[in-house]
Amino acid sequence: MALSTREGANAPRINLYSDTQTLPTPAMRRAMAEAPVGDEQSFADPSVNALCERVAVLLGHEAAVFLPSGTMCNEISIRVHCRPGDEVIAEASCHILNFEGGGPAALSGVQIAPIPGERGIYTAEQAEAAIRPEHRYAPRSALLEVENTANMGGGTVWPLEAVQAVTDVARKHGLATHLDGARLPNAVVASGTAAADYGACFDSAWIDLSKGLGCPVGAVLAGSSAFIDEAWRWKQRMGGAMRQAGILAAAGLHALDRHWDRLAEDHANAALLADALAQIDGVSVEPCETNILFFDVGGTGRSAPDIAERAGAAGLRIGAMGPTRMRAVTHLDVDRADCEEAARILAEAAA
Ligand SMILES: *Cc1c(COP(=O)(O)O)cnc(C)c1O
Repeated sequence: MALSTREGANAPRINLYSDTQTLPTPAMRRAMAEAPVGDEQSFADPSVNALCERVAVLLGHEAAVFLPSGTMCNEISIRVHCRPGDEVIAEASCHILNFEGGGPAALSGVQIAPIPGERGIYTAEQAEAAIRPEHRYAPRSALLEVENTANMGGGTVWPLEAVQAVTDVARKHGLATHLDGARLPNAVVASGTAAADYGACFDSAWIDLSKGLGCPVGAVLAGSSAFIDEAWRWKQRMGGAMRQAGILAAAGLHALDRHWDRLAEDHANAALLADALAQIDGVSVEPCETNILFFDVGGTGRSAPDIAERAGAAGLRIGAMGPTRMRAVTHLDVDRADCEEAARILAEAAA
């Protein structure tokens, strides 16, 4: 695709670094330009209101709030559900623990009890074992978090029964529950499970607009009306309250209509890439369930950063996630031919 004309002369020809790299399509830009807008802080922005109403229903909740990022959805949720000194139970590779700048500690004064899961997924038994006994020596277990799909797990999809099993344990012990649904749309498309069925398992749940859905900015957090009222107070305090944000919300509405079902194409392209990379000597691919593909290049004798650099010189941007572990993410701005070309570039870079 002609990414370079829109992104500038130095853009890679093919960008598999992340699904955050998408640029708004011409149709999305038109929808943004034509959006009815108002002051979202006064609930006077029709586009923001429509987006929030739509995502609340989509996720099986009463209400929703539009936020600038998924990180803010996570951080505000933790702040609302927990008190300083509390503990959040989550999988060890999760975003809140590894990629939010220590936000849970800095902003909420909580610590995280990481569960070593299997490709980002943990069991009810592990959740049960992670819950602290009621004793003044122990931190209070306050919140259980699920990330679906699990990013560093390899874009893995939590089966609905697995979600229900861990959230049932949480509820039994009086913990609140939170869904990091940055890529919930991918989980929904891959599994056929309704977003509302996933969402209803949790006290708070959100989706990102700026991952697979292809928007430039934004995420939407859903929960009960009481939860969203509290979330709004934190949005205000943290400086996340906006004004004519309908310009951004319109991109979200457009994406919910046009970019949701097509995630299946991203999944097919990632599977194609997985098959092609598996043919390269010394490369071993991890299972690929959605749009994220991890693979190990240790057997090629080259490091991941080395291969990423060689691929970059040939026009392919791709992530080195460890000494020999690499990540490719498919999205709206890469098609089947791009993935075939990417596999050719990687075969040469690995040689
Ligand atoms: C990207 C991501 C986030 C954060 O979303 P931003 O919109 O980039 O702040 C949170 N959780 C997961 C699993 C993510 O992949």
